[in-house]
Amino acid sequence: MGVKFSIVVPRRAYTVGIVRRILAEALSVNGVCGDCGFSILLTLSEACTNAVEHGAPATEYEVTAEVNDDSCLLEIADTGPAFNPDQVSLPDTESESGRGILLMRRLADEVRFRPSPVGGTAVRLRKLLHNGGSHDGLGCGIDARTPAMLC
Ligand SMILES: [Zn+2]
Repeated sequence: MGVKFSIVVPRRAYTVGIVRRILAEALSVNGVCGDCGFSILLTLSEACTNAVEHGAPATEYEVTAEVNDDSCLLEIADTGPAFNPDQVSLPDTESESGRGILLMRRLADEVRFRPSPVGGTAVRLRKLLHNGGSHDGLGCGIDARTPAMLC
């Protein structure tokens, strides 16, 4: 089992919460634990916020999410100008976008930026799920018997 979906939304701040709620439901249905879900949703929020704040002149961005039994893969693509993550200054930056990227790199197991197919930037984030029995024997992923409540 598992789930995959894509959604295209206006490049407006209110859409971050909408996408977050859809993904939270998908994670819950698939039995992803609260710890993993928290990291995934925070990562998603940062990536969507970056798309909203820096995706100009695009008017929309696209979120693709795939949840399976051992990982959650997210791709957030905008049609804004190309962006080089290596040019973002790190730890002591005052930039919100710089902090967002640091957070994404800390929370996700894989973070990759690339030019989006439509001309902007796409960020691909993979979070590995706990698998097979940590979490007090419940595990995490589609085989978990007791899905955690997510915020
Ligand atoms: Zn987990």
